[in-house]
Amino acid sequence: MTYFDAQYTIHTEYTTLIGNISMKTILVVGGAGYIGSHMVKMLLETEHHVVVFDNLSTGYRDAVLGGDFVFGDLADRASLARLFSGYQFDGVMHFASFIQVGESIIQPDKYYQNNVACTLNLLDAMVTANVNHFIFSSTAAIFGEPQYTPIDEQHPKNPINPYGLSKWMIEQILADYDRAYQLKSVCLRYFNAAGADPMGQLRERHNPETHLIPLVLQAAKGQRENITIFGQDYDTPDGTCIRDYIHINDLCQAHLLALDYLFTYQSSASFNLGNSAGFSVKQVIDIAKQVTAKSIPVHIGARREGDPARLVADAKLARNQLNWQPQYTDLKTIIAHAWATEQQVNL
Ligand code: UDP
Repeated sequence: MTYFDAQYTIHTEYTTLIGNISMKTILVVGGAGYIGSHMVKMLLETEHHVVVFDNLSTGYRDAVLGGDFVFGDLADRASLARLFSGYQFDGVMHFASFIQVGESIIQPDKYYQNNVACTLNLLDAMVTANVNHFIFSSTAAIFGEPQYTPIDEQHPKNPINPYGLSKWMIEQILADYDRAYQLKSVCLRYFNAAGADPMGQLRERHNPETHLIPLVLQAAKGQRENITIFGQDYDTPDGTCIRDYIHINDLCQAHLLALDYLFTYQSSASFNLGNSAGFSVKQVIDIAKQVTAKSIPVHIGARREGDPARLVADAKLARNQLNWQPQYTDLKTIIAHAWATEQQVNL
């Protein structure tokens, strides 16, 4: 049994967890991206019919491991209308947004145009086609600088960058669309998605890469000179920012459960998704050193604008209401999966 086969035995347990919702037709918008492509794989493994809609602006066609692929852009309402007349979707998952906090401060227009206006096009196409189950990729960035930790769903929403605000705008729009059009949605507020397919078929690929774990692993590989720590003067034990890292497969599992929730209860909800364990940037680098057995040169840089010091989730609601049971909660395992796929030249 290979490393990846061994992991697969664990992975297939997802199919037994998700018993009620097989054979649905699910539209995955942004299915060629990092989270979307892992989601498509899990939907296929749980025997759904998957249709991916993606403009490949940041995604990769070869990351879509199955289902139908429709090349198209959310800005184009006519192509959305064609898409919705070509299929009868049971549910829609939306992963197609821009995600860089720093960029959103410099180019807010890009974020409001894509993350808000284009999402409205998608919602309107759903309403017109009478498709009323929607899973929205939201973010911990809607909370802004935490007033308390861990952060539960009720925590005040004060986003401190346009990225977070664009996501919070859609959450509020979704509440209005539920009232007016009975469009039922689950907003999943991701903390820090990380890791990669335990079977080794997919990995995290962004261009340019801005996320901590892939950058640290590139430094371990010698592909970049060092990793820059964005500030070590935060009010945290080692001075670097603390984040809650969640394995990509656990994140995707929560989406399957959220679909089940929508079909079962026909009501909208929001859930925080994290492991409720915070790791500082320095701790992430230390664990990456252990996993890779490589030296990782570090450069201390300035703070990155828009970064709260500490983001850790209270995810009890998802555990209780979705029966979500994350399986890869150990950061070492998350980084090991990322490292295993980072080293594969063909991914
Ligand atoms: N970070 C860092 N150096 C990098 C990239 C990220 O120090 O090259 C820090 C960043 O400031 C944050 C944490 O790592 O505190 C996680 O950042 P990432 O961009 O991965 O995710 P985010 O928290 O912005 O969603």
